Amino acid sequence: PAPDSVLRRRARIGVMGGTFDPIHNGHLVAASEVQQKFDLDEVIFAPTGEPWMKKTVTEGEHRYLMTVIATAANPRFTVSRVDIDRQGPTYTIDTLRDIRRARPEADLFFITGADAVAQIMEWKDVEEVWSLAHFVAVSRPGHSLTISGLPEQGVSSLEVPALAISSTDCRDRVSGGFPVWYLVPDGVVQYIAKHHLYRSVS
Ligand code: ATP
Ligand code: MG
Repeated sequence: PAPDSVLRRRARIGVMGGTFDPIHNGHLVAASEVQQKFDLDEVIFAPTGEPWMKKTVTEGEHRYLMTVIATAANPRFTVSRVDIDRQGPTYTIDTLRDIRRARPEADLFFITGADAVAQIMEWKDVEEVWSLAHFVAVSRPGHSLTISGLPEQGVSSLEVPALAISSTDCRDRVSGGFPVWYLVPDGVVQYIAKHHLYRSVS
């Protein structure tokens, strides 16, 4: 008889990289939509280490824990420490290599917002990036989904219910004394208050 692995289809795993400073409902809706539309078994959220394009970010451990809290209730959502545990800035190529090494049996789908996909062409080792994962670009208010110069194969785009939420806006609201209830999950609102995050302007 054929072993189980022959009969079972290949696992399909989404990878959602981000600073998640903090994670918000726009991230969660995008991941949930891609999970359903692409029939993914799992979506792995990977909070970045020291991001190379941003100057100041909250400690990785806080961003990691908020991501765990936000995703805990969804059985298909998991969180990876590969990027926050790696020294130095996070490059998507390293995220994908590490997750590929951990899950060699799976097809990977890298989920990214329309704003971030525009920067893909500038990424380190862009050719290998394409070979490691299929890319799914999701719509985001204020950003066009059509990007020129991307390979036709290997990139899909998906309209998701547009939530005009950004982490920058969430941080500004907290520092200005405005609520972030319903923009981020309840547990994340409480975590931000408990640890006094974003009190001063970022
Ligand atoms: P910041 O304002 O600090 O840049 P952000 O809200 O853009 O934060 P990131 O952690 O930078 O969040 O984004 C991680 C990924 O999620 C990126 O691919 C980004 O395009 C995508 N994303 C962020 N917000 C949304 C949203 N509202 N809808 C769809 N995708 C989003
Ligand atoms: Mg961003």
